[in-house]
Parts: sequence; C-alpha cells; structure tokens
Amino acid sequence: MERSAIIRAALEAGFARARVLALPGGEESGNAAAARRRLDTPSLLVTALPHGQDTALPPGAQDLAIAPFARRNYYREAVRRLQRLARNFRELYGGEETEYALKRNYRIFCNSPVPEKPLAASCGLGVMGRNGLIITPEAGSLVVIAALTLPFPLEGDGPLDGEDGAYCEKCGMPPPCAAACPTGAVRGDGFISLEKCVQWYASGNGESVPPEVAAKWGKRLYGCTACQDACVRNSRPVPGAPCSGGHLPAFMNGEELLKLPDDELKARFRGSALDFSWISPGVIRRNIRTALGS
Ligand code: SF4
Ligand code: SF4
Repeated sequence: MERSAIIRAALEAGFARARVLALPGGEESGNAAAARRRLDTPSLLVTALPHGQDTALPPGAQDLAIAPFARRNYYREAVRRLQRLARNFRELYGGEETEYALKRNYRIFCNSPVPEKPLAASCGLGVMGRNGLIITPEAGSLVVIAALTLPFPLEGDGPLDGEDGAYCEKCGMPPPCAAACPTGAVRGDGFISLEKCVQWYASGNGESVPPEVAAKWGKRLYGCTACQDACVRNSRPVPGAPCSGGHLPAFMNGEELLKLPDDELKARFRGSALDFSWISPGVIRRNIRTALGS
C-alpha cells in the first residue's frame, strides 16, 4: 500500500486534511519515537475534521452559549469515519499479511490522553499556533483532530515549512489571538496559561474558578473560542463536515438547567460532545453558576 492511497481514502471520507506520521523504532528521541514506544505501531494516519463556525442568535438574559465545536458531536463523527476507513483498509490489505487484517491493529485516538497536537505538527497536519491550537492550511484551527494506527510501514510526511509553516510569524506582537483572549491566557509564545483559561475550567479542570477568570467568563455554558475567532487563519471558515449526531442548540437556559436533577441533566446532553462520561453534571452546574454570576 502507498501513503498517497491512504491519504486519498481519508480525504474521500470527508476529512479536510490527512497526513501520515511514520513512527521510528529504536531509541530515537522526539515526539514520533515516544509515540512509537507508547502506541507500538509503525504508522499513524492523522486527520482533521472541520467543525465550521456557526453563526448564532443573540441570547436572552438567561441564555448561555455552547461553542460551535460542541454543538454536534464531531469527536464521535471523526471516530466513526476512521472506523469505516479501518474496515476498508483491513479488507483491502488483509490479504497481504495477517497482521493487516486484525481489528486490534487499527486503534483510534480522538480527544484522548495521547498528545495529538505535537504529533499533528510533526507530520504537517498543521502548525502549532500561538493560541496553542493546530492551524491547518485548509480549515484553520476549526477542526477536530483524530488519529488511526496503521500496522504497515509507510513513508511519512514532514512538518509544514515555507509560508504554510510561518502563519504566526506574520501576525506580529501582540497577535490578534492574544489581544482577544478575555483573561490574558494566550502568552503569545505558543503556550497557554491554563490557570487563566476559561476553556480549561469549562472542561472541569481546577478545584474552583478563580474570581479573576469568573469575572471574564461571559455568557458561556461551554466553550471559549475567542482566541480562535480572532485568528486571522479562521477568517474564512470552511463549512463543518456533515454530522447528525449529538445536536445541541447554540444557547440553553442556564436557570432552567440548574433546576434539573442529575438524571435529567444527563439526558439533555446524552450523545453530545458534552456527554457526561467525561464531563460531570457538577462541572456543567459550575459553568452555569459562573456564567450567571458574571
Ligand atoms: S480558550 Fe478563551 S480563555 Fe482560553 S486561551 Fe482561548 S480565548 Fe483565552
Ligand atoms: S492570530 Fe496569528 S498568531 Fe494567533 S494563532 Fe492565529 S495566526 Fe497565529
């Protein structure tokens, strides 16, 4: 099999961009070698599924916003698309080697503990932006990243270079993403001060939301995208990939949600990107109280 055939199959599956990361064996250092030791696979297909940037209506007083990337379950959609690809690859290449037909050799990582961003930068899926997000040439940073292990060795892609590798250099200092961040969390050097980041707390991190972050929280139920919205590479967003699963409205009534017991609150978010297998009812309530208090 050839790298170009694998990439083509991923693009036909609806990903905006796909690259192959060759994972070296042996004692080499670096992100790819560390991934090889951790994942025990020779190649990784790294993909970007666009989630677009919906426009939203102005909210009422109790209405709290859900960020565009969480209004559909794009994580699950990316996993489904990779599952279909893996099935195709097993059928296509399984005759060449028994190992190539085994389901266990095609593992999928999406929103997982595997550090997807450094791997995505290593193979040129995009560059690491100063807002801490991967910026792709096709869809900016408005993408969900997902990866599939492949049991066969492939020629790998390298990092982006030239103009595509230098998006952020053109922005000067302070860059628009840093200027737009409500809490000053975008440091401007590619790192985010997590203890200041609204999105980090909205995902359930931190014991409590510090008052200085709460004061800038805004009417957000889930998801801060200010540093993405301001990014010059997102000024012409491509449409989100078709995704029927996990629909959430752009706004939800915070006071009403606060009155719901756990089981009803869970039912509201079941199957969505905020499904409570990873974000608890307590976190959602904390987000609501912070938003209504600010
Ligand atoms: S997600 Fe929001 S708070 Fe966090 S760095 Fe971006 S703009 Fe700042
Ligand atoms: S606004 Fe400029 S500096 Fe910030 S992430 Fe986008 S391209 Fe990079």
